[in-house]
Amino acid sequence: MLRIGLFPGSFDPPTLGHFDIIEKSKILVDHLIIAVHSSETSLFSFEEKRLMLQKIAPKSKIVPLNGLVVDLAKEMEAEFLIRGLRTPADFDYEFQMASANRHLSGIETIFFMANDDHTQISASLIREIIKHKGSLNGLVPKQVEKIIQKKFS
Ligand code: ADP
Repeated sequence: MLRIGLFPGSFDPPTLGHFDIIEKSKILVDHLIIAVHSSETSLFSFEEKRLMLQKIAPKSKIVPLNGLVVDLAKEMEAEFLIRGLRTPADFDYEFQMASANRHLSGIETIFFMANDDHTQISASLIREIIKHKGSLNGLVPKQVEKIIQKKFS
C-alpha cells in the first residue's frame, strides 16, 4: 500500500528548511502532498507558492488548505501529517496542534528535526530580508530565489 503523507504549512515563501523536511520525508512516504495555507496577509499568492513548491518538490501534489488539516488529510487519504521542529518554541506549538489533530480524527503527526544550519530560518525572516532587499543566498532553494527575484525586480 502506498504511504501518503500530508505536509501542511504557510510556505510564505518556501525555505531551505521546508525543502529539507520535504527531502527527509522521503524515507517514510511514497507520496507527499503539500497543503498550502494562505491568508490576506500572505506575501505570496497560492499560485506563486505552488510554482515555487513545484520546483523543489516536482513529484508532490500541491493543494490549497482552506479548512481543517484533518479534513483535507481524510480527503487525500493521507496516513499521517509531516511537520518540522526547529526549537523548543516550535515544540510547544506543534505539540498542541498534533494533539488537537489526533483528538479530531485520530491522525498522527510525524516530526523531522531541522538541520543545525536551518534552525534559524523562518519564512518571516525571509520576508523581512525581501523587504530590505537583502541576499537570500543559503536561506531558500535557488529555484525559489529566482522566482522571488523575478517578482520583486
Ligand atoms: P505554519 O504557519 O503552519 O507554521 P510554516 O510554513 O511556517 O507554516 O511551517 C510549516 C512547517 O515547516 C512547520 O512544521 C515548521 O515547524 C516547519 N519549518 C519551518 N521552517 C523550518 C526550518 N527552517 N527547518 C525545519 N522545519 C521548518
